[in-house]
Amino acid sequence: MYEDVIERIKRQIVVDDKGCWIWQGRVDSSGYGDLRLKSTPSKTRIAHRISYEVFVARIPAGLQIDHLCRVRACVNPKHLEPVTPRENTLRSPIALASLAAQQATCKRGHAFDEKNTIWRREGGRACRTCKRDRLREFRERQRRVPADAA
Ligand SMILES: [Zn+2]
Ligand SMILES: [Zn+2]
Repeated sequence: MYEDVIERIKRQIVVDDKGCWIWQGRVDSSGYGDLRLKSTPSKTRIAHRISYEVFVARIPAGLQIDHLCRVRACVNPKHLEPVTPRENTLRSPIALASLAAQQATCKRGHAFDEKNTIWRREGGRACRTCKRDRLREFRERQRRVPADAA
């Protein structure tokens, strides 16, 4: 259906050793490939969005395209994934780095290292040690309750 668009994309890329399709055409101020077409699946000029749409599928409304390879000029549809704007912000290396710099330990001083950190689906993180302690305290309280009091 979009053979002409596909051909144009193929002519404007160079594949690097990581498999990234590096855009050789114009890039916009954000570093994203800029592709001007008369007609596109959805009205966008962002080359990687067009690439995803012609090679994979229409991007659901409101979703952003995240670069799994972190290369903004890459238009390889295999390196692209639609995400909600919030997921995209949380995943960006800058957001992760600032979060890590913010706080190295939880309120009770447990290190937020790889093993001890629970990444919440809704964003943010929790301390695994604290969670385990809370669970243990809860179970102990339960045990102390006399059976006939229930
Ligand atoms: Zn890539
Ligand atoms: Zn903790």
